[in-house]
Amino acid sequence: MRDDVLTMIPGPTPVRRTILDALARPTTSHQAPSFVETFREALDQVKTIVMSAVGYPFVVSGSGTLAMEMALVNLVASDERLLVVSQGYFGDRWAQLAQAFGIECRLLQAEWGRQVPVERVRREVEHGRYAAVAMTHVDTSTGTAAPVEEYCRALAGRETLLLLDGVCATGGIEERFDEWGLDVVLTGMQKALGAPPGLAILVVSERALARRRAIDAVPAYYADLLRWEPVMEDPARYFSTPPVNEVLALHEAARLVLNEGLARRFARHDRVAAAMRRGFERLGLTLFTDERCRASTLTVLNYPDRVEDAPFRAVVATHGVVVAGALGPIAGKAFRVGHMGNIGAAEVGRTVAALGRALDEVGRPVDVDGAVAEALAGLEP
Ligand code: PMP
Repeated sequence: MRDDVLTMIPGPTPVRRTILDALARPTTSHQAPSFVETFREALDQVKTIVMSAVGYPFVVSGSGTLAMEMALVNLVASDERLLVVSQGYFGDRWAQLAQAFGIECRLLQAEWGRQVPVERVRREVEHGRYAAVAMTHVDTSTGTAAPVEEYCRALAGRETLLLLDGVCATGGIEERFDEWGLDVVLTGMQKALGAPPGLAILVVSERALARRRAIDAVPAYYADLLRWEPVMEDPARYFSTPPVNEVLALHEAARLVLNEGLARRFARHDRVAAAMRRGFERLGLTLFTDERCRASTLTVLNYPDRVEDAPFRAVVATHGVVVAGALGPIAGKAFRVGHMGNIGAAEVGRTVAALGRALDEVGRPVDVDGAVAEALAGLEP
């Protein structure tokens, strides 16, 4: 395994040295006072990142999918209904989870690369009885950003809980938990927070916790929010051993996010996305996602005719950059470049150059230097 490879997939994203150093620190007792204090701070940081004063943060070993499962099994009983607003593969995952737990689910799917219109969501909720609506902020399969604030506004004032998968957004794109009236925002560590994978992270509203309490038993033990609630209130308490070093890494990752400042970080994601796309387009590549709903955290690119997916990405990798294949119906026809977390001009330059050289090598001569220069114009180092 090479250590100098630049991982530009839509998660895991490049991890800063100080975060890796946190992982490499001596592992302490999960009840050591210094660790408990760091855990407490990390929970506060998570709330701050989703702009919440009133939410309840939960951080447990696991990945984004566990966080989705926790949201669902705790907040929607098996005789209740779920509305899923899906912009792709990960939106559809909500429906698969519902099916796994016997929850009746209605799935609103957008054409890939487009959004589900706000009106359609509003109409559906007006006419159906839904315990919750599950949304995906950025669907990592299609590069589509959902109009979350508008969905929330359209659905405000109802009992229906609003669950948001922020896995490909949280820490990179604005999410105003309190102001938008969200009931759950969930994420993993390995995306816009720029840390290694390993933690499932949720912020849960008071009314969502009340909903959990109103359900006698949920089909979960480890994933039961009520078992974790005392630990999140006071991390000196024990339910199941927390991943001590991962929590240290989260604390450091969140410190970097908050040091940069949320508004600046979100604006940087916009600038980096624009820079990447200037470079890609100059290389003659076209973007898959409708221009009205492109997320700033990744780009989905169409393959030019006769460029083969796996061999092309293998050539890109020989230039030190790893990009991802596409999923579902566009697998083999498109590829994905992540550009979220702790990255900037250097990563933009390397990525555009690697793609350009690879295109050259597969017989599509392009102006690599010109594309890099165009990408970087206006992007400070
Ligand atoms: N939701 C979205 C939007 C994702 O991008 C992913 C991971 N790519 C997941 C959920 C699942 O997260 P994990 O792989 O950490 O389980």
